Order: sequence, then C-alpha cells, then structure tokens
Amino acid sequence: LTTKILVGMLAGIAVGCLFNFLNMSQLFGAGVNNFINLYLTEGLFDIIGRIFIASLKLMVVPLVLVSLISGACALSEGSRIGPLAGKTILLYMVTTAIAITLALCLALIFQPGVGVNEAAAAAASAFEPKESPPLSEVLVNIFPTNPVAAMVEGNMLQIIVFALLMGYAISRCGEPGQRIAAFFNDLNTVVLRMVGVLMVFAPYGVFALLAKTFADLGLAGLVQLGKYFLVVLCALLLHALGTYSVILKLLSGLNPLELLKKMRPTMIFAFSTASSAATIPVTLATVEKRLGVDNKIAAFTVPLGATINMDGTAIMQGVATVFIAQFFGIEIGLTGFLTVILTATLASIGTAGVPGVGLIMLGMVLQQVGLPLEGIGIVIGVDRLLDMVRTAVNITGDAVVSSVVAKSEGALDEETYYDANYKSVSI
Ligand code: ASP
Repeated sequence: LTTKILVGMLAGIAVGCLFNFLNMSQLFGAGVNNFINLYLTEGLFDIIGRIFIASLKLMVVPLVLVSLISGACALSEGSRIGPLAGKTILLYMVTTAIAITLALCLALIFQPGVGVNEAAAAAASAFEPKESPPLSEVLVNIFPTNPVAAMVEGNMLQIIVFALLMGYAISRCGEPGQRIAAFFNDLNTVVLRMVGVLMVFAPYGVFALLAKTFADLGLAGLVQLGKYFLVVLCALLLHALGTYSVILKLLSGLNPLELLKKMRPTMIFAFSTASSAATIPVTLATVEKRLGVDNKIAAFTVPLGATINMDGTAIMQGVATVFIAQFFGIEIGLTGFLTVILTATLASIGTAGVPGVGLIMLGMVLQQVGLPLEGIGIVIGVDRLLDMVRTAVNITGDAVVSSVVAKSEGALDEETYYDANYKSVSI
C-alpha cells in the first residue's frame, strides 16, 4: 500500500501538470480541453477526491473519541494526565516558536518582498480580508457545552476535553468502569480496522485529489512570487529535516531517519488533502503501528497536535509577515518580530486543520504588528501548493512530539520504531 500511495501521488501530479499544460497551451484545441475539464478534472477526479476526503473525515470523530477514551482510561491508572498534557503542549509550543523564528531569519536574509512589482499591488488592493477570531474566544471554545454538538461540528479540542474527562472517570469507577473500559478498548480495535479498510482506496483518492489540484493550479503567480515561494519551501524543508531531527535525537536519542521514512505515506495524505484534521486517522495509525507509540499517549497527542500544532503554518506566516512588511516598506523592528513569534505561536492553536485557514489566521498576526491585511491578497496566489507542503510538515511535527513524549513516559516500543519490516504493517 505504501508504494501504491507513492505511485498514486506521482501519477496524480504528472497527470495534473499535463492537463494544466494542455489548458494553458491549447495544444489540441478547445474541444479536448473542454472534455478534460468537464469530465475529468471537474468530473471524475473531483468526485473521487471528494469521496476520499469524506471517507477520511468520516473516521476522525469516532476514532478520536473512542481512542482517547480508551487511552485516557489506561493513562489515568497512574494519574499522569496533568504532567503529560503539560509536557505535550509545551513541546508543541516550543517547536512552533522555533519554526517561526527559523522562518523569520530566512526571510530577513533573502528579502522576498523586495522588488515585487505592481501586479502584486493590484492583487493586494483587490483583496477583502476576512475577520480572524479573537484569541479569547479560541481559549473559551476549548471547553464544550454540549458533547454531541462538539461531535457534530467536529470540534476537536472540545472532543478531547470530553474524552479525557470520561476516560478519567471510567478509571475511577471500579468494576463498572472496567467493563466500560473493556468495551472502549474493543471498539477502538474495530474503529482502527475501519480506517484500515478505507485505506485500500487511498492510492486512487490521492491520485484524483492531486490530479485535480495540479490541473487547477494557477502557476502564474509563481514568477512574481518565486522568491517568497522558495523561502517558505526552504524553511519548511529545513524545519522538517533539521529541527525535527535535532529534537528527536537530543530529547529522546531516537534515529530521526526512521521516523521520516515511516511517516512518508502519512505525509502524502497530508500533502494531497491539505488538512491535518482529515489526516488524523492515518497519523494516529502510523504513530501507533509503525512508530510504536502506545495508544494511551498517541490518542491524546495526535488529535491535539493536528488541532494546535502547526509548525508549517507558522513558517508560512513568518515569511509572509516579513514579505508584506518589505512590500509595503514598513519597518517592524525587534519588538515587532517578537510579537510575530508570540502571536503566530498562539494563532496556531486557533488554526483549524483544514485547507487555507493558515492564511486567515495570518490576519491576526499582521494586525498585531500593524501591517495592512491586504498583504494577504498578494501571497494567496501561491498559497495552495504551500498549504499542501506545510500541512505535511504540521503532521510530521505531531509525530515527532508524540514519539518524544512517549519515549519520556516509557510508552514507546523501540522494537516497532526500528522495525525495518514496516511496510507490511497496514495503516
Ligand atoms: N492546511 C493546514 C493544516 O491543515 C492549515 C493551514 O496552514 O492552512 O494543517
């Protein structure tokens, strides 16, 4: 399956680029292009892609709820939820702060916003910024008023709070609690199996999504924003390959190459869906089955990470802020940069793991340092592709922190982590 998913990705990108080229060049005339657009890109590929995303999203709420309740039961026996949560959240924040600092440094060195011309200014003035939610609301919203509503809306943080509470209570109930815990453990096995069943269709889903996205991708902006694009891309790669390796090695002594290798199909999911939230089932399965993180840790760290840990998004926001400041010729100074680091780290908590939200939250960062929100209109042109790459980085960060936390809690099975035969393990 791992190889098939990779083939699906490459074939999807190739077909998408080909269709994009045919559309641009009109090589075979309008008839052929109409057929491609109507029946393939907007027809078959669109339908398969949407069904694929639906099938992933379908599993998110049941999986997080069941898995976390069963994990929290096991966790509460040693009543370590508090320190575990503290450690996890701290690591998520620290990695995001490192990510954005790295992005700011690269952007200041390479100056992507210098020399961008009027076409960009036109894009800026045509853009109507959306309101980003105030931070206080983001915090209050973590606490559910109605668990069913939280599940219906797929509000991940609220589901996490509810599941932790329930798991904790189950572990404190003696014999009735044990019966319920056994039920949730069994249910967890069944729900994970459901994810496995749906995975069979993954290569086709990945193919369809990527073929459509690349066929639709407007690359005109790339010429104009090439430097911005490359700086974001470099920062994302440096963070994924460099920062994460150092963190894994330093904090837990684990070999980072193993993690990167085993996360590859999961990264492809994130890349093709551009949604950390939709990727949760795959991330969770990979982290548990291939990296050997115990369910009681992963069930908490993975959904939490997919919701509050957005290193890749913070990187985009860092580079975009410097880009916009340079474009409008506004100095933001050292305090400005520190504000950017703080706000982008907090903004990542409020960024939902769905496509394009990072750009809306960029508004919050820009506002804090007094930059014009119209700047978002300039970078939006190349955002889709960057969104895909940064989502892959976002979920890799979740896996790294999950492994570090699990290792420190003695809940990482190193035999599984180093198992060379990982491809035979279904995700
Ligand atoms: N698409 C990203 C994610 O799901 C969020 C964003 O940066 O827009 O992780």
